[in-house]
Amino acid sequence: MAVRWRTLSVLMIGCASVLLLLLLNSYMFVSSHAMNGGGGGGRAEPVNPALPLPRRRKMAARAEPPDGVDCEADELDEHEELRCHGVWLAEARADLRRLEQRLAALTKRAGVKSFPRVKFRNYRDRKRILVTGGAGFVGSHLVDRLMLDGYEVIVLDNLYTGRKRNIEQWLGHENFEMAMHDVINQYYAEVDEIYHLASPASPPHYMANPVKTIKTNTIGTINMLGLAKRVGARLLIASTSEVYGDPEVHPQPETYWGHVNPIGPRACYDEAKRVAETLAFAYHKQSNVSVRVARIFNTYGPRMHNNDGRVVSNFILQALQNQTLTIYGSGEQTRSFQYVSDLVEGLVALMESNHTGPVNLGNPVEHTIEEFAHIIQKTVGGTSQVEYLDAVEDDPQKRKPDIRRAEQLLGWQPKVPLSEGIPKTVEYFRHELQRKGHNERNLFDPLVDWSHIPNKLGG
Ligand code: NAD
Ligand code: UDP
Repeated sequence: MAVRWRTLSVLMIGCASVLLLLLLNSYMFVSSHAMNGGGGGGRAEPVNPALPLPRRRKMAARAEPPDGVDCEADELDEHEELRCHGVWLAEARADLRRLEQRLAALTKRAGVKSFPRVKFRNYRDRKRILVTGGAGFVGSHLVDRLMLDGYEVIVLDNLYTGRKRNIEQWLGHENFEMAMHDVINQYYAEVDEIYHLASPASPPHYMANPVKTIKTNTIGTINMLGLAKRVGARLLIASTSEVYGDPEVHPQPETYWGHVNPIGPRACYDEAKRVAETLAFAYHKQSNVSVRVARIFNTYGPRMHNNDGRVVSNFILQALQNQTLTIYGSGEQTRSFQYVSDLVEGLVALMESNHTGPVNLGNPVEHTIEEFAHIIQKTVGGTSQVEYLDAVEDDPQKRKPDIRRAEQLLGWQPKVPLSEGIPKTVEYFRHELQRKGHNERNLFDPLVDWSHIPNKLGG
């Protein structure tokens, strides 16, 4: 219905534009005629088009029918026609104004906007792809990548930690659909691939409602695996380095089984993701569902949630506001940070490969949290200091991916160093802090250089 209304609106706008052009033409004709000596009789004055617009409007509005001439008559002689020009000009202007208003209202109603240019694929190679959690940080970048590549994308999201703003650039595009849906309820769609990302990801978010986190990653995963089984789709699960817990093996290869506290504060996420992996392999073995398991390490970039409490967003926002950077514990714990575009390329490569996984996707360049604080201070500038707060419970002390499997099987390696990714992320957060209204569209995109796209997003 929405599509039919849109088509109708676009048609109406088209017709209105043609009418507008015709009227403009007749207006130009009448004006030039009047300039060339028309309007010589009665009170209908010729309106000089060289006059400023408000003045011309006033004069046209004053035009009255010339005495003794019926300007509506079918047949007028040349002299009468000349005397009617002023009247017709005023009428044409009034029509023009009405049409302009109508056109503006229709354009607004139809929500006509331009989109980034996407590759054209015909029905033979245009896959239908479901992205759960597609309105979140990672999901929205993946959606950009798939949309630009010409695929049909359905985003399934309950907007728990995601935002419509992250995908607003695609709302209304014929290849795009957004389903407001909680993944713990069954969902039916005919799709070829499923990227299953729906889950809160930052510790404060997933700890806020531990039971819901468990349900999302277990019941939600069963629902998506069931869907994949029914429609014969391939499904990729966004698992996590948290399946290794507080690791005793360093760096962490996929063969390491992990060291997770099953009842600690992180368990709702760590254990639920472990079950999600177990479910994926069970469906694969029992029902021959084609699955891919990605173990994602700490990822950062634009569109991270402003208050997700992760170290990257916390430090950048603190530094931008000249606040103290809060280091939990000694700051000697380590993390290895990957830029979001590298992760997206890894996810797509894994989905398209012949390997079930699990495959680590992360950047192996490791930093202590203290070093990372100094990197942020240096990049942002300002006067921020660091302060050391209590360590958080069960905080993994070391984390660094062994990515040899991804290199060998997918030919994948991260490309973006911190020196490139952090300034882009700082710019994103700076812009977010300065943002004042809804009319500031979400144009910033780390993966796409908009400058080469003539039709930028509407805004
Ligand atoms: P995010 O919070 O930005 O995005 C998660 C999305 O899932 C959000 O849009 C949220 O609204 C949606 N969601 C949550 N619960 C849902 C539910 N019950 N039904 C439907 N939608 C739901 O997180 P992210 O950083 O983009 O992470 C995406 C995925 O990648 C997650 O599965 C996460 O576990 C995994 N991951 C991320 C990282 C990282 O560093 N970002 C690291 C490891 C794993
Ligand atoms: N951290 C910190 N200060 C903050 C936020 C986090 O020192 O303001 C630490 C946290 O204790 C952990 C590391 O930074 O050791 C990464 O935390 P994050 O929440 O980003 O992700 P995690 O890898 O723990 O899931």
